[in-house]
Order: sequence, then C-alpha cells, then structure tokens
Amino acid sequence: MNSTSQWNGQFSCFDLVASSSDRPRSVIRVGDIEIGGDEFVVMAGPCAVESERQVIETAEAVAAAGARILRGGAYKPRSSPYAFQGLGVEGLKILRKAREETGLAIVTEVMCEDDVGVIAEYADIMQVGTRSMENYALLEALGRCERPVLLKRGMTATLVELLRSAQVIAMNGNPNIILCERGIRTFETATRNTLDISAVPVLKTVSHLPVIVDPSHAAGVRCLVPILARAAVAVEADGMLVEVHPSPEQALSDGIQSLTFREFRKMMDDLQPYLALREKSFAQLLEVGGAA
Ligand code: PEP
Ligand code: MN
Repeated sequence: MNSTSQWNGQFSCFDLVASSSDRPRSVIRVGDIEIGGDEFVVMAGPCAVESERQVIETAEAVAAAGARILRGGAYKPRSSPYAFQGLGVEGLKILRKAREETGLAIVTEVMCEDDVGVIAEYADIMQVGTRSMENYALLEALGRCERPVLLKRGMTATLVELLRSAQVIAMNGNPNIILCERGIRTFETATRNTLDISAVPVLKTVSHLPVIVDPSHAAGVRCLVPILARAAVAVEADGMLVEVHPSPEQALSDGIQSLTFREFRKMMDDLQPYLALREKSFAQLLEVGGAA
C-alpha cells in the first residue's frame, strides 16, 4: 500500500507492535491453534457464562460447527450497575469444564489487575474489553502474565490509541497480543456501533499483530452478524469473535445480537466459499512476494 509510509509516521513509535521490514508477522499459538496463521480462527460462545448447561451446550454446538475457541464472560463489564455482573470464579470453573469436554480453548474477559492471576489459571486467552482498553494498570499486569491477550479497541479509541495500549502490554513483557475491531461509536444509531472495517487492513499494514473482528458488538442485532462476518473474511481478518446462545431471548446479556445454534451453523456454512477465496488470495500474495 502506498500510504504505508504515511501511516508508519503515526504508528512506528510503538516499536514493539509496529510492523517493520525485518520482522515477520506474529502468529499467536494456543495449543494447536494458530491465530495470525493461515486459518481464520472462530471464537464463539455466549456473552456471559450463565450456567453449566448453557455453556456446555453452546460449546458443543459451536465446536461442531467449526469454532476453535469458546468465548464467555465470567466477569462482565455492564453499562448498567443493575445488570447481571457475571458468575466470577464459578463461571471460570464452568468454562474449564467446557474445555475438558470439547477441547475448545477458552477466551474470557479480565477487568482489573487483581483478577489477572485467577483468570489466567482458567483461561487460554485473556480478553480486554472495550471499556478497559486504556486501563494501564490492567495492561501492565497482562504484560507480566503468560497468557496471550485479546485487546479490544476502545469504543472511542483511534487506531493509534489501540496500538499504544498494545505497546504497553508488550513493553511489560508479553508479545502475544491479538487486536480486535469491535465497532466504534459514531453518530449512527441504526447499529449498536459502527464496524470500522478499514481498521483491519490498516492495522495489518502498520502492525505485525493478528487482527480479528467482533461482528456481534459492532452490529448489536443478530441479523447483521453473518454479513459482517463475511466482510471480516473479505478484508483478511485473522478470525472473529461471535456471540452464540442456546436461547437468545432468555440471555442475561446481549441476547439481541446473539446467534442461535442454527444461525451460527448456517453462518459458518455460508462463509465457506469466502474462506476458500481467502486461501486463494493468500497463495497469490505469496506468489507475488516470491516473484519480487
Ligand atoms: C463482550 O465481548 O461480551 C464485551 C463486553 O465486549 P466489548 O468489550 O467489546 O463491549
Ligand atoms: Mn457481549
């Protein structure tokens, strides 16, 4: 891209996370899963861990449809203080049981530095939510933690600010960071947030870190999730994070944007031709790179 040098002016000060010609793209390994490699890695599950049955049923359904990682919040950052705040450690134990039964890896949110130790005992990937992207005490603690970090973009954060937060984690010793575009606040009200789709190619140009998309929190309504997922594949995101619930109308959080099992399976099936094109375009990119 011709604009690379212009962008690099803004981003290159974050030297640990900015791309440079002598540095390969980062691939984050979680068991046998590679995020940032050839595979489009799907992370799926409920917004919040509500019960063992809800999580195990969801884990089985999403694994059967091709997800590799189970998502679910045991500690929930809610906009309202009256809303369900999560099951805490009990929720972490349920996630661990789901991993034992399905082999899925676990991604779950951490909201404060005091919880990093306990959550790292149960989680394979530590999620930093949009409201915590600039919680530097948390980012520093995650820098000292051995687990990969999924760093969501703050809902009002620029890409420079996102990379600055990634740099804080890396500076404190943890290079295993996955960036996540989850939609930003704009004047538009028809969707919960506005999915900034160009964030994906920009971030993949200016940073060596993998980039995934969260179509659920961007859309805020389930009917838009599959089409935004398709867009994520088309712009060569490295994966996505999707909310799925056994009965969304009864979900304790984010039911309106959660897919049913059937909808999730259909979305995964419908993505197949786009995923096949993605493989082809990667192969072509490599050919061009080899010829140059
Ligand atoms: C979530 O993933 O359930 C969540 C709270 O996301 P965000 O931080 O993007 O709002
Ligand atoms: Mn949610």
